[in-house]
Amino acid sequence: MSVWDEVVGQESAVAMLRASVTRAEAMTHAWLVTGPPGSGRSVAARAFAAALQCEQGGCGACHACTTTLAGTHPDVTLLATDKVVITIDEVRDLVGTAARTPTLGRWRVIIVEDADRMAERTTNLLLKSIEEPPPHTVWVLCAPSVQDVLPTIRSRCRAVVLRVPPADAVADLLVRRDGVDPAVALTAARAAQSHVGMARRLARDEGARERRSAVLGIARRIRGVGDAVLAAGELVDVAKQEAAAATEERDAAEKAELLRALGVVDGEPLPPKLRSQVKQLEEGQKRRATRRQRDVLDRAMLDLLSLYRDVLVVQLGADVDPVNTEHAGTVRDLARDSTPEQTIRRMDAIAVARQRLDGNVAPLLACEAMTIALRPQG
Ligand SMILES: [Zn+2]
Repeated sequence: MSVWDEVVGQESAVAMLRASVTRAEAMTHAWLVTGPPGSGRSVAARAFAAALQCEQGGCGACHACTTTLAGTHPDVTLLATDKVVITIDEVRDLVGTAARTPTLGRWRVIIVEDADRMAERTTNLLLKSIEEPPPHTVWVLCAPSVQDVLPTIRSRCRAVVLRVPPADAVADLLVRRDGVDPAVALTAARAAQSHVGMARRLARDEGARERRSAVLGIARRIRGVGDAVLAAGELVDVAKQEAAAATEERDAAEKAELLRALGVVDGEPLPPKLRSQVKQLEEGQKRRATRRQRDVLDRAMLDLLSLYRDVLVVQLGADVDPVNTEHAGTVRDLARDSTPEQTIRRMDAIAVARQRLDGNVAPLLACEAMTIALRPQG
């Protein structure tokens, strides 16, 4: 057992991080972990932090390891954000924390997920601390790619590049860690295109599998413009439901916590002077729900894209593994009933819809244009 067990398919990155834990000359005070969504950036960052705190270099079992992985080690600070930008106040707090000597651990470790979501002014504040860190402080910044971080920051960090892990490595993790049946694990890992979190959800949550199947079913169901408009409405509804399911519980917990902090007794009316605080929280939660809904919709579009990618693979007779093994029938039918040119045009329509969604076009409009373009062409 080791803290690196869950960092799947990243042998070279893990080797580099491990070496820096055991050999002082390989250690540095600022790291930049990059990799595509689902490659496990924050998992790798946490494992590294645990390995630094552990007396055996990351045994996975001792108090230092387990508390670091659980997010409760006093000398490991993690900044994760649901917001579009990390605020300057948040970074100021981190810089203050970074200056303190560790209380129990050997290092003070500061992990910043989404380090790409920082304005330049905020980055400059961070830069000072990274340039001249106290001797026991380690910064671990995470971002999708090196290009997403300002050159001033990346030139001062050592880069750790994660790749998309192979599907069988992800499946192996699901079997090992979550006790998933090997066949289900491999299907889920392929369908999630090696996004570890997504694969786990598909493997363990039947509702998630059904929603994904419903999305892919759209490809076969659309015959004319009427079906297309209905299908678009359905897609948007499913995204709304899924976003609500994911955020409701957390929203309620946050609100309860705020009310407690404000000293409001459960069930009593809210004093007028505290209303703006609660309103602010609710507005933030609404923004988060909207963003989540767009993310879910984008994921649905990526799923559809992977289906047409499989169709194209069949049409071209390419020797490549399919993503959607459990939808082979749909793929075969679509491949038979269309030409490769039509498949590419459909894939383009999905790409355009994703761009529109990203550019703040109303989700329903973006979806309708897409589903209309997916209908069979004579
Ligand atoms: Zn340990």
